Amino acid sequence: MNPQSPGNKPLSYGIITLIIIFYMLNIFQMVQQSEEIPYSEFLQLLSDHRVEQVWIEDHKIKGQLGESDDKEIKGFSTNLVDPNLSKLLAEHGVKFQKKIENTFFRDIASWLIPFGLFFGFWFYMSKKLYSKSAGGGFMSIGKSKAKIFVQTDIQTTFDDVAGVDEAKEEILEVVNFLKDTEKYERLGGKLPKGILLVGPPGTGKTLLARATAGEAKVPFFSISGSEFVEMFVGVGAARVRDLFEQARAKAPCIIFIDELDSLGRSRMANPMGSNDEKEQTLNQLLAELDGFDSSSGIVLLAATNRPEILDPALLRSGRFDRQILVDRPDKKGRVDILKVHVKNVKIDPNFDLNSLAMLTTGFTGADLANLVNEAAIMATRRKAESVTTEDFTMALERIIAGAEKKNRILSLDERSIIAHHEMGHALMSSALCKAEKVHKVSIIPRGIGALGYTIQTPTEERFLMTKKELENKMSVLYGGRAAEEIIFNSISTGASDDIAKASNIAHSIVLNYGMDESLKNLSLEQPNQSFLGGPGQNPYNRATYSEHTARLIDDAVQSLTDDCYENAKNILNKNRALLEKSAKKLLQQETLVEAELAEFFNEIVT
Ligand code: ADP
Ligand code: MG
Ligand code: ZN
Repeated sequence: MNPQSPGNKPLSYGIITLIIIFYMLNIFQMVQQSEEIPYSEFLQLLSDHRVEQVWIEDHKIKGQLGESDDKEIKGFSTNLVDPNLSKLLAEHGVKFQKKIENTFFRDIASWLIPFGLFFGFWFYMSKKLYSKSAGGGFMSIGKSKAKIFVQTDIQTTFDDVAGVDEAKEEILEVVNFLKDTEKYERLGGKLPKGILLVGPPGTGKTLLARATAGEAKVPFFSISGSEFVEMFVGVGAARVRDLFEQARAKAPCIIFIDELDSLGRSRMANPMGSNDEKEQTLNQLLAELDGFDSSSGIVLLAATNRPEILDPALLRSGRFDRQILVDRPDKKGRVDILKVHVKNVKIDPNFDLNSLAMLTTGFTGADLANLVNEAAIMATRRKAESVTTEDFTMALERIIAGAEKKNRILSLDERSIIAHHEMGHALMSSALCKAEKVHKVSIIPRGIGALGYTIQTPTEERFLMTKKELENKMSVLYGGRAAEEIIFNSISTGASDDIAKASNIAHSIVLNYGMDESLKNLSLEQPNQSFLGGPGQNPYNRATYSEHTARLIDDAVQSLTDDCYENAKNILNKNRALLEKSAKKLLQQETLVEAELAEFFNEIVT
């Protein structure tokens, strides 16, 4: 992962070593030098005839004392004071000569050190810059050899992925295709080019992709979207080209692009100007997607937890047109996932996985894996033989305490509120909106912020809506909060999204559709005329109207919302027993589907 050309290091090391050697030599020379004495002492020695020989340098005299002397000082040096020393020396019969100071090493060093430092810094910086980029390292931008991660012998199988049976079933087709490409071709079958795994973080998307390769026993090219995004324009694009080239050589195989959103973010999402590099990379990917068809034996998988920000070009048909939802597991799914993960730990035989699954609503596969791991750590800490219920309870408490901040794992009280809230929506919808069927109600948290959800599916396609229908829609949206108020006599923040939506409808009724009695047939906001409505722009322009009209608008919106909320409360009050009964069942089962809801809906009175 850290490529660099092999020449760099030895060269810079060599320079440093040389510098050190020069310095050592210099120091060695100095050490050889002898005792430093004052000039006056030197003159004394001279007059005592003890000096045998001296070497005179530019600013120094170095000397040697006579052999006969058994004094400690043999060699000495002193600073030159009197430049006319030669006469004196000659008088005392001392051998003397001028010594040309050898500053060669010092000069070289003084020249080499800044040079060496500069080079060292340069190498360091260039290494930093390039190690993240092209595989070839320094000076070879655009070739990505080592970066593409291919695995040929993956041991992960579908048995390791639990609780996402629907996704597994869908992806089984890919496995069958890869196992026998020829058979598929003979029959004229074609696989969608790109399959996008969509789901919250930790639900096992990466795991599922690996397992697909493991099941089909084909090479697995995996790369994360963020790895394509580089500092230098063109590098990412080259990498995409390389990836497909290598994959073609190894077909049949799987190419897996993890975290596709970091690469394929909508180009329109950034109105402040585009990121050239990202755009080029994305364009290259789109081109490659168009350029190969599945008969080449390559299956392209990608994963994201934010499909909504992906560039529409990536999702159009012929590219990543098949989406597979990898959702948070339901209770049974959680039991299965726990079974996968407790395989590797010694578990107490009395332990009941079902009851643990009951307590872990909203946990993803990754959360559950973490839970089992924490419990095993707890058991190890108390030096137990096996992991027991007690360990799991403690681990769960720890995780929930940590996760509470993230607003994902809910207490029983909260879940009860959510169950009533969602049933409020469902009952109101069944009572008022005949054109929409409640498909599913769930208290398994989903996405960001949504703690539960009610899915309504229109029974027929609609192009027009009457005022009554719009109001009914608002009443359904208020059903959640109304249910909370009726049952708990207090309201919660859980309804914020509903209220925003209902207010929007009320605004539109008054401002755009001219449906309100007091402001009849007046359009007070004009839609923006820009093509397709560019992102980030206010889609409406405020028309000119007086303060008086503004006041009328506020009143009209308020009375609409009040009426709808009252309506919701009325209907739910009439069906209070039903609300409580159905919420209880929802709390128990976490999810209610159409058939299960029908028996409650039959009892509604309006
Ligand atoms: P994602 O890519 O969706 O964010 P991962 O595939 O990286 O999630 O999952 C992380 C870990 O969580 C996996 O390695 C596995 O141990 C565990 N895990 C997640 N989902 C499942 C699952 N459905 N079955 C078994 N284990 C799972
Ligand atoms: Mg992942
Ligand atoms: Zn709601």
